[in-house]
Amino acid sequence: MNVDAIVVGAGPAGSTAAREIASRGASVLLLDRARFPRDKPCGGGVTVRCAELLPFSIDPVVEDAITHAHLRVRDGRDIERSAGGVITYMTQRRHLDAFLVEQAQARGVEFRDGQTVTDVIRLGDGTFEVRTKDEQHTARVVIGADGANGIVGNRLGYASIPDGAAALEGNIRFPDGVPARFRGKVVLNFGYVPGGYGWVFPKGDHVNVGVGGWKHAAGPRLRAALKHLCRLYDLDPESVEALRGHTLPMAAPGMTIAALGSAVIGDAAGLVDPLSGEGIYAALASGTAVAPAVADYLGGTTKGLEGYQATMERELLPENRASSALLEIFQASPDPFIWLMQHFGPFWGGACRLVRGEASYEGLTYTAGPLGHALLAPVSAVARQVNLRRHPRR
Ligand SMILES: Cc1cc2nc3c(=O)[nH]c(=O)nc-3n(C[C@H](O)[C@H](O)[C@H](O)COP(=O)(O)OP(=O)(O)OC[C@H]3O[C@@H](n4cnc5c(N)ncnc54)[C@H](O)[C@@H]3O)c2cc1C
Repeated sequence: MNVDAIVVGAGPAGSTAAREIASRGASVLLLDRARFPRDKPCGGGVTVRCAELLPFSIDPVVEDAITHAHLRVRDGRDIERSAGGVITYMTQRRHLDAFLVEQAQARGVEFRDGQTVTDVIRLGDGTFEVRTKDEQHTARVVIGADGANGIVGNRLGYASIPDGAAALEGNIRFPDGVPARFRGKVVLNFGYVPGGYGWVFPKGDHVNVGVGGWKHAAGPRLRAALKHLCRLYDLDPESVEALRGHTLPMAAPGMTIAALGSAVIGDAAGLVDPLSGEGIYAALASGTAVAPAVADYLGGTTKGLEGYQATMERELLPENRASSALLEIFQASPDPFIWLMQHFGPFWGGACRLVRGEASYEGLTYTAGPLGHALLAPVSAVARQVNLRRHPRR
């Protein structure tokens, strides 16, 4: 096929980019190696700020709506907090991703699943050839939405993204319905897993249990930590099904994410929020941000997709940098922060406003006055040394 744009990878980033590009009148081919619907290691939590990036409702794939959180440090006291309304929607990725692809197809995107991309070549005239085992396609634009160290970034010379974090998750079935103690609530447990947390997320007929943290420190401990988490919340660790591990890519500052007629988005660009591990928001945000740059390039008003990089440098990347700095500070000593979330209204309220998209990490640092923001970098640098001493990178 010869099209205006090829998007490789049909996760939330790819389907969003494909839909947004097609909505602007371009012909788009969306390729994925998996047969859809497909699953993906993920908690499937879609925050309110994330859902609001979409021009349609995700209601058809929502299995629970979260209004409360259970917060605990290690084996300490479990404190329930109300968010006063919905803060996150619970979905299963197999359904969410298929639904997002359907929305792209409704906008005219040609979707082909079961098509592993094996090579991407930039031709002399600036167009691209994309090869799968059975097919060969050409396009003026190629978007890599194929996850961490995907083939598009690799073949086009983008730097590989470090695996900042690793996570392990699985499901525990409740065929007669999820117990009331989990419905409408997220369970978050801090302190066991360095650089992250453990969770229990309610779905329609099961709960998703998981643990994630810094890959270098948490990786070897994840299995034991997941078992411990299950026991702590009266769940049988032996009943966990579909246990899967995966990494979460986190880009270093200053990495290139667009060049000439190509760009990388979502996990392929390492855009996961370091503090929360939330990646679907960045997938949708980057998939949306790349589309106007593609339209300008196809329309001949720009020489490449650098406008996308500029948008991300202005909007999402400073947030991820602030998140990364806050993660170091939080992880150096989680207990007082969790105590504040458990007992101090404004602190918990700030976390809820973040998840709803009513506040930003950068904005929150200013709530302690201009000094709060100014101190973020130096305090985070000290905290990082503490964390590195405790969990050396080998
Ligand atoms: C255990 C775990 C729990 C998580 N929980 C949450 C959560 O609750 N909420 C949240 O917001 N984020 C969560 N995340 C992060 C989130 O899953 C990712 O950030 C998100 O999936 C990124 O979307 P994406 O579209 O960029 O990539 P993906 O969803 O990974 O999609 C990439 C697609 O590319 C395809 N592909 C790869 N290579 C090729 C190829 N060569 N040819 C063709 N296709 C290819 C793959 O098949 C895949 O469909 C979690 C991550 C992990 C590991």
